[in-house]
Amino acid sequence: MEKTPLEIARQRRREKIDRGEKIERLDPIEKSRRSPNSLRFAINAKCWDCCGGDTGGTVERIRNCPCGQFCPLWNLRPYQTKEK
Ligand code: SF4
Repeated sequence: MEKTPLEIARQRRREKIDRGEKIERLDPIEKSRRSPNSLRFAINAKCWDCCGGDTGGTVERIRNCPCGQFCPLWNLRPYQTKEK
């Protein structure tokens, strides 16, 4: 069975860890800065900024964002489903 892009990325990450390489963790705003043509990263960064950034609990606030129809990004916001 063919691996999904997420599975490939996770495998590469595991390989980096096994080689002892440092894993860089970027917040959504920095990810967007490094990939300025990515709409997904731009939306993620906007929601991250809107909900307080690195203040803690941001993922839950985005997931439970109450703005609904009042924000054009609402249907596209990240973290709508919990990771398994
Ligand atoms: S969807 Fe919610 S969290 Fe995202 S930008 Fe709109 S109001 Fe902010």
